Amino acid sequence: MARLILKAGRGKSVLQRHPWVFSGAVKRVEGSPTEGQAVDIISAEGEWLARGTWSSRSQIVARLFTWDPQENIDGELFLRRLKRAFAGRADLAADPATNAYRLVFAESDGLPGLIVDRYADYLSVQFLTQGIATRSELISSLLAEHTGARGIYERSDVDVRHKEGLERAEGLLWGEEPPDPLEIRENGMRFRFSLRGGQKTGYYLDQRDNRRRVAAYCSGRDVLGVFTYTGGFEVYAAAAGAASVVAVDSSAPALEQLQQNMALNNLSTPLECIAGDAFQVLRRLREEGRSFDVVILDPPKFAQSQAQVERACRGYKDINMQALHLLRPGGILATCSCSGLVSADLFQKVLFGAALDAGREAQILEQLRQGPDHPVLLTFPESAYLKGLICRVW
Ligand code: SAH
Repeated sequence: MARLILKAGRGKSVLQRHPWVFSGAVKRVEGSPTEGQAVDIISAEGEWLARGTWSSRSQIVARLFTWDPQENIDGELFLRRLKRAFAGRADLAADPATNAYRLVFAESDGLPGLIVDRYADYLSVQFLTQGIATRSELISSLLAEHTGARGIYERSDVDVRHKEGLERAEGLLWGEEPPDPLEIRENGMRFRFSLRGGQKTGYYLDQRDNRRRVAAYCSGRDVLGVFTYTGGFEVYAAAAGAASVVAVDSSAPALEQLQQNMALNNLSTPLECIAGDAFQVLRRLREEGRSFDVVILDPPKFAQSQAQVERACRGYKDINMQALHLLRPGGILATCSCSGLVSADLFQKVLFGAALDAGREAQILEQLRQGPDHPVLLTFPESAYLKGLICRVW
C-alpha cells in the first residue's frame, strides 16, 4: 500500500482523528497510488497513524476512514459504517410522520465524501471525493441491499467535485427511476419536489426541526418567507394557522411547486408568490409600505470559500436589515445561514450590526442548528454548517 509520510509536527490533527490530510502536511509519497486508492498515513517519526483514500488533485490529499491498522477500506468497512449510520437514524426511520431524512452524512458518519438522503422509497446520493467515486458500484450495491430502496439516483452535480478532478455526474445508479415529482412526508406534512431537477439532493432536510420551531410563532400572523424554495417553512407556517403568507424566491418553478405543496396539504391560506431577487424584492416591499409579523430568511450558502466570508457577511447583513425594516414591533425574525465558514458567533455579530443599523432592538429567543440526521462530529467541527436565530424584534 502507498504511504504518505507527514512533515514533522503535522501528525497531531491525524492523532486527534481529524479526517483530512492537507497536501501541505505531506513530506513525501511512497509508492504511486491511483485516484481513490487506500493510503497509509505515517508520521515523520515513522509511526503508522491512519488509513485513508488518496486524491492527487485536491488540497485535501487524503480523507481518513480508519485509525485501526487492522481495518481495511473495503466492502466490510463500508457495510459496518453504513449500518452504524442507519442505526443512528432508527428513531427517525420508525417515525410514521416522516419518511425523508439524511441517511449518511459523510465525515460525520465515518464515510468522508458520501451523502445519502432518503426520500420515501428512493435514495439521492452524492459522491464527492475520489475515494467514494471510485467505489460507487460497491456503495450502490450495499445501499440497494441494505436499505430496501426502490431506486438510487445520483446527484453529484456539484462544483466541489472539480476540486477532486471529478466531473459532475447525475443519473439513475440502480433500480427504478424515481417519480418526478417525488412525494415525501415530513412531520406529517406532504411535500413534492423534483429529485432529478431540484436543488441540492432535491430537498432541504436539514431544516426539518427548525420548520416546526418557526411555525410555532406563525398562528394568526402575516408571514413573509424569503428564499422559500418549495416552501418548507411556509407550508408549516400555513398549517400552523398563519393569517397570510408571502413567499419570495428567485426560482419560479420552486414557487410553483410551493403553491402545489400548499394545496397538497389542503391549505387555503392567502398566498402571494413573488419571483425575483430577494434583495430587491424586500426593498420594494418596504417602499410599498408593507409590514409583517414574521419574516423567515433561509438564504443559499453565501460563502463557498474563506475568501468569500467577508462579502457573505455583507450579504447576510443587508438581507437581515431589509427583513428587520419590514417587521412590525414585537414581530419575529427567523434567520439562518448555511455557510459553514460563517460561525454561529460571527452570524450573531452580523445580526447585531444589522439591528443596530436598522434601528431595531432584537432579542434572541431560540438558536437553531442542523437536524440530528446531520450530526456534528466532535473531531470534525467543520461538519457544523447550519445555524439560525429566532428573534423578537421591537
Ligand atoms: N427555505 C427552503 C430552502 C431554501 S434554499 C426550504 O425550507 O426548503 C435557498 C433558496 O434561495 C433557493 O430556492 C434559491 O432558488 C433561492 N435563491 C437564491 N438566491 C436568491 C436570490 N438572490 N433571491 C431570491 N431567492 C434566491
